[in-house]
Amino acid sequence: MYGQTTNVVKLLKESGLRVTPQREAILQFLMDYHGHATVDDIYQSVHPTFPSMSVSTVYNTVKNFAQLGLVKEITVGDGPSRFDINVKPHHHLVCIQCGALIDFYMEEQPKFQLPPEATGFEIEDYHVEVKGICPACREKSTNQ
Ligand SMILES: [Zn+2]
Ligand SMILES: [Zn+2]
Repeated sequence: MYGQTTNVVKLLKESGLRVTPQREAILQFLMDYHGHATVDDIYQSVHPTFPSMSVSTVYNTVKNFAQLGLVKEITVGDGPSRFDINVKPHHHLVCIQCGALIDFYMEEQPKFQLPPEATGFEIEDYHVEVKGICPACREKSTNQ
């Protein structure tokens, strides 16, 4: 646990951020969450320790983390932004029933067939979203 805490402090410092208990708590939560947390998830978790921290402070803090590349901001459909501590290039399987988001990786960059008007377009980043039904939801529907 102690090792992880220093890791968070180190990450904040490397990003040029002033280390505050609030930033530490939010980043630590995302580290421990192993998933894709919404602002609300973060708020619910840190609020008991920092009762004066508002939802908008949490929002601004994670937005700031995303700008600095500490986390990745992901939006699926019209759902709320989710914040992913996994900043390695990766993609998501999205369950259309429960909204679960599962990371997956592709070894090779796909060959994009760009339309003529996009000739010379330099791709910096891309994200593949594969929609389907997760194992848990499939199990539920077969048991009914
Ligand atoms: Zn599901
Ligand atoms: Zn992810």
